Amino acid sequence: MNILIMMAKNLWRGYQTLRFPARPKVTTRFRGLVEFDPALCTGCAVCRFRCTSRAIEFKAGKGEFTWSYNPGQCTFCGRCVEGCAEHALKEGRMEHALSQQEACPPIYVTAGGLKKSYTVARRPPARKATAAAAAAVKAPNPATGGAQ
Ligand code: SF4
Ligand code: SF4
Repeated sequence: MNILIMMAKNLWRGYQTLRFPARPKVTTRFRGLVEFDPALCTGCAVCRFRCTSRAIEFKAGKGEFTWSYNPGQCTFCGRCVEGCAEHALKEGRMEHALSQQEACPPIYVTAGGLKKSYTVARRPPARKATAAAAAAVKAPNPATGGAQ
């Protein structure tokens, strides 16, 4: 394109810089802040191992664990959310603890201003039905002629 036409177009559309506190529009499926739901977290720490920027910290304690997230170190890559969802699916759960906001992260002025930390009590793992137990449930009851 002719440089003069390009310059004229740039001049015509005016400045593109947004003035504070305006925020840019985001597209659908924009990856923003990571959201954590302690009620759905199993404490597997998959998210911690997937987060190479160390925005997620995980500390195991006695009967509980602490999950922390520092958006100041987050690159919004989504690998933690992906890992949490895959782990939940492997365990046969449809819901998982992590998601990402579809909005620009808020402005903060102090380091660690958006950091969040949760201490979650460990729950006993859900007991999977053994093959023998499952067969016993399905097998007809001989004493009742097949009725359960
Ligand atoms: S989105 Fe990426 S950088 Fe941010 S916490 Fe998750 S894995 Fe870490
Ligand atoms: S991957 Fe999900 S379930 Fe596992 S510790 Fe992280 S948030 Fe909790």
